[in-house]
Amino acid sequence: LKFCQALPKIELHAHLNGSLRDATIRKLAIKRQLDPSLTKLIEKGDRTLSECFKLFDVIHQITTDHETITGIASEVVEDFAADNVRYLELRTTPKTRSEHGMTKRSYTEAVLKGMQEAQGRQRASKGRSIAVRLLLSIDRREDAAAALETVQLAAELQSRGVVGIDLSGNPTLGQWSTWEPALQEARRQGLKITLHAAEVYNPAETEAMLHFRPDRLGHMCCLDERLEALHYSTGIPVELCLSSNIITESVASYPEHHFHPFYSAGHPVILCTDDSGVFSTSLSKEFAIAAQAFQFSRLQLWQISEAAIDHTFLNEEEKQDLRKEFENARLKLQ
Ligand code: 5GP
Repeated sequence: LKFCQALPKIELHAHLNGSLRDATIRKLAIKRQLDPSLTKLIEKGDRTLSECFKLFDVIHQITTDHETITGIASEVVEDFAADNVRYLELRTTPKTRSEHGMTKRSYTEAVLKGMQEAQGRQRASKGRSIAVRLLLSIDRREDAAAALETVQLAAELQSRGVVGIDLSGNPTLGQWSTWEPALQEARRQGLKITLHAAEVYNPAETEAMLHFRPDRLGHMCCLDERLEALHYSTGIPVELCLSSNIITESVASYPEHHFHPFYSAGHPVILCTDDSGVFSTSLSKEFAIAAQAFQFSRLQLWQISEAAIDHTFLNEEEKQDLRKEFENARLKLQ
């Protein structure tokens, strides 16, 4: 784990409200006087995928106002920086909460404020620097109009650090055709796109998603041979989250995780946390788990970490800066 902590890392799949510290969730639950039966759901360690979505709804009940949103965004960025993540693509679903005077835009502004505050503090302390960009998520419960609203917001906020769109939320809900027009619009606006795909076995949807050719995919747990071959042929990089898939029982064990066959086939893979709070993990831990499950050498871990730079939603110049930063870190680590 020590080597994995010292390794500079790139995090490309992290949901804001899934990345909260346990202590912060407990503090907010007390502050908001959360019903004790719901608090129990927070305390539970192992969770199936459907329990996770119930938990997200509970977390959303305690992260309701702008100040709290700014606070958690700032804390999450600090936690990734402390784990030696040098570039973070954080994602979150913009929310409308009229009872709190919140619109999708004001929610997103509150997140951006928290991200900036954390980066400012990081620079001032002359600690390790972390660059952060934001992806706006479309929740599968949303209709076409809400999806389009999120895309338009992302397009307007591109100069403020929003680089792309994610599709996430309970994979058993909704229809691909609902969000596809909004995602086409995102592409027209120059936004990058990543999709949660094949978290459950849904061959028609997974095939449609592959034909859409997003810039990245997340999870890809439930594929048959035909879909796997199709995915390989597209070369689309895949964000893989080991602890998340094991805890939610999407994959039976670490050694059986599809990270390894993808990696061995030379398909671009990126190790990510998904929800570091909900799954009690960190990116360093995910690297340590991969090292143990797949017998990776230090050189291989380094290469996996560095290769993620190619798959960020940054421009070529920004990627080059990150490569230089990795090179400097490598010289120090030797
Ligand atoms: P938020 O977008 O509120 O910051 O983060 C929590 C949300 O991210 C959840 O409500 C859910 O929509 C999405 N999410 C987090 N983890 C997962 C996951 O493993 N799979 C899917 N499909 N969605 C997730």
